[in-house]
Amino acid sequence: MNLEKRKVVIAGNWKMNKNLEETKSLLDEMVNAVPSDTKATVLLCVPAINIAAAVECVKGSNINIGAQNVHFEKSGAFTGEISTDMLKSYDVKYSIIGHSERRQYFGETDETVNKRAKACLDADICPIICVGENLEERESDITANVIKNQIEKDLAGFTAEEISRTIIAYEPIWAIGTGKTATARQAQEVCRFIRDTIAGLCNRETAESVTIQYGGSMNAKNAAELLSMPDIDGGLIGGASLKSADFRTIVSCVK
Ligand code: PEP
Repeated sequence: MNLEKRKVVIAGNWKMNKNLEETKSLLDEMVNAVPSDTKATVLLCVPAINIAAAVECVKGSNINIGAQNVHFEKSGAFTGEISTDMLKSYDVKYSIIGHSERRQYFGETDETVNKRAKACLDADICPIICVGENLEERESDITANVIKNQIEKDLAGFTAEEISRTIIAYEPIWAIGTGKTATARQAQEVCRFIRDTIAGLCNRETAESVTIQYGGSMNAKNAAELLSMPDIDGGLIGGASLKSADFRTIVSCVK
């Protein structure tokens, strides 16, 4: 991380976990656990149905509530989807976009990721755009091609100013929920490559300002090393964001 250059964002992704009571109870724990003087921007992305309650629970704390997805159309016949306007009405300022689980199970493509991210930017919501290679791609040594292709398509048509308002999450698919973490060196190498790809799309100054997170089995034990890397500006954290003590330890690595 480089706190002088960039915002460091520690974001939890609760995925499809926690009902209303469990959400309130875990958020109460989180509010007490997360250090009030942290230099990190702290964010928990909860299921859409629990956003309203979650926003109430964290009021007055330094925890932000984010969404896990948002549709690109403003309103209309899109059963099951939520709009940026709905998120705005709860003052939600962040949304994960293009998580690999959305790409794998719900037909998300780079084209729809691009549209969803653009809708976020237009609504002044920060999209956390997820990219990452699968195991076969890593073993075939085509990680760089896969990532470059995703970044170029996901950010297609964005101005430098728009790109500067995005967060990119590098999430190797083989590391998500598997307990297998990329080594700090592997993660740094790809995060640096993402920054260089962004520089190619717009300019170096913008690329140096973009927050790039690592995600994939980040936990209380490996976070310090991953976050010590110069181009890893935070984490997108699944499993460990459901345990307040582990999440606190990760946030505490940001100094
Ligand atoms: C994620 O859901 O984005 C993620 C990285 O999950 P986990 O930390 O459990 O691997």
